Amino acid sequence: MLQTTKTPSGDTSINVIGAGIAGTWQALTLARAGYGVTLHERDSRAMTQATSHFAGGMLAPWCERETSEPVITRLGIRSLELWRSVLPNTDFNGSLVVAHPRDRADFDRFAKLTTDHERLDKDGVAKLEPSLDGRFREALFFPAEGHVEPRSVLPKLQEMLSEAGGTIEFESDAAPDDLARHSNVVIDCRGLAARDRLPELRGVKGEMIVVETNDVELSRPVRVVHPRWPLYVIPRGNGRFMLGATSIESEDTGVSVRSALELLTAAYAVHPAFAEARIVEIGAGLRPALPDNLPRIAIDKNSIAVNGLYRHGFLLAPALAELTLNYLQRGLIDNEVMQCA
Ligand SMILES: Cc1cc2nc3c(=O)[nH]c(=O)nc-3n(C[C@H](O)[C@H](O)[C@H](O)COP(=O)(O)OP(=O)(O)OC[C@H]3O[C@@H](n4cnc5c(N)ncnc54)[C@H](O)[C@@H]3O)c2cc1C
Repeated sequence: MLQTTKTPSGDTSINVIGAGIAGTWQALTLARAGYGVTLHERDSRAMTQATSHFAGGMLAPWCERETSEPVITRLGIRSLELWRSVLPNTDFNGSLVVAHPRDRADFDRFAKLTTDHERLDKDGVAKLEPSLDGRFREALFFPAEGHVEPRSVLPKLQEMLSEAGGTIEFESDAAPDDLARHSNVVIDCRGLAARDRLPELRGVKGEMIVVETNDVELSRPVRVVHPRWPLYVIPRGNGRFMLGATSIESEDTGVSVRSALELLTAAYAVHPAFAEARIVEIGAGLRPALPDNLPRIAIDKNSIAVNGLYRHGFLLAPALAELTLNYLQRGLIDNEVMQCA
């Protein structure tokens, strides 16, 4: 899987474009390895235009096995180690998967397609999540999975980039070709905006809702097996929960009534107290996806594009950054993910 190639020559100034989860991890990893890194972000510090702003932040390589290629699990498991070592306070208290009796067949299918889980009975569910006492007769528990809060973890990683000697420039609309003329390496992490370089990119809409209630307490993401989408409820602290996420082949960023109903119904199915919760936010992000729905690191001389993170940006970004570092330092190529022009 790994082979070596010639690395870019010259000194070590690197410009990274796009401070979503992909670009932020690239910049941080390279700055920590001693490169002179500047991260450019066209948005303001709030980053409300980034897909990363809308993400659930689940780090769930074993649950994702249900629908993803083995490479996602491989890189995801490596990413968990990197999240742990860079941010030791990352929540790794697992994920819970529940289903309604009518979706029993889908639940069994989920169990068959995934690994590294424990089957819990009713008491096991109640012990893990007391709020769910009596609600589900069984569940799957993935004890090694984690989750992050995207809107706090991105600024944290960006702060660590500055501490590592990197520079971050917000409201800096950068053009990869211009930067390539002035720096040794440009890493393009523009997400969906990189279509000029990757015309086959498409956006896959993910809708989400944030609600607030003090009547439910959860310690970990709870996924509800659903025939169409992996719906879930993620605790965000202070009584807030994110309900996610649809997956629709559309680049419109509106949220439909149908999707809102499905998301709210999933929350209600997890706990009826969500019926009284206050809706805080309704939004949608466009996941940058390539035709095979797999991530890609495309290398063309001193220009590297990291894109196609699709449903797995938070899960995969650390491992992808490590692959770029391995390429720059040692010329290592991971054939499953990297393409050289
Ligand atoms: C509802 C939803 C839920 C999700 N849940 C999860 C989850 O639980 N776990 C998970 O792993 N993934 C999840 N994802 C997927 C994840 O959000 C994406 O894979 C990830 O955000 C993609 O990151 P990115 O950095 O490639 O793109 P973005 O986050 O879009 O970042 C690209 C950045 O580039 C900037 N940019 C563009 N052009 C320029 C330019 N010319 N100059 C400077 N800056 C520029 C943009 O402003 C943007 O900030 C979810 C996605 C959605 C929509």
